[in-house]
Amino acid sequence: MEQYSKQAYDMAQTEIHPRDTLPAVRHGWGRRCPSCGKGRMMQGYLKVAHACGECRQEFYHHRADDGPAYLTILIVGHLMAPLLLHVFVTYRPDPWVMLAIFGLGCITLSLYLLPRLKGVIVAFQWARGMHGFGYSRQT
Ligand SMILES: [Zn+2]
Repeated sequence: MEQYSKQAYDMAQTEIHPRDTLPAVRHGWGRRCPSCGKGRMMQGYLKVAHACGECRQEFYHHRADDGPAYLTILIVGHLMAPLLLHVFVTYRPDPWVMLAIFGLGCITLSLYLLPRLKGVIVAFQWARGMHGFGYSRQT
């Protein structure tokens, strides 16, 4: 028990009162800062900015990693695979028409979802104080 410092104890106490996750995730979906909801979270299409331009909340210690890609594949696959089967069984279109429509649909949906899901994951990490988004650093 002696190895725990007073600072670690204080951080553990502040973690009892987490930030609101749902508003933060909504801001993340809009690729805005989960803290203030005004500043931009993304510097480009997928690159997370170093910090919020409005409230100076730092984002550099996020750990989204492969999470956004995993969720994108999960959602696109679960939407498009049953739809593809339904269209094939019901209408029997030409294979090239199927390939064109569903290929374009999968690419478009993936490009739409990927940055938004990255924003959601970074905002979730912020709300839960994960990976350096500790509560003691919040102003
Ligand atoms: Zn902000």
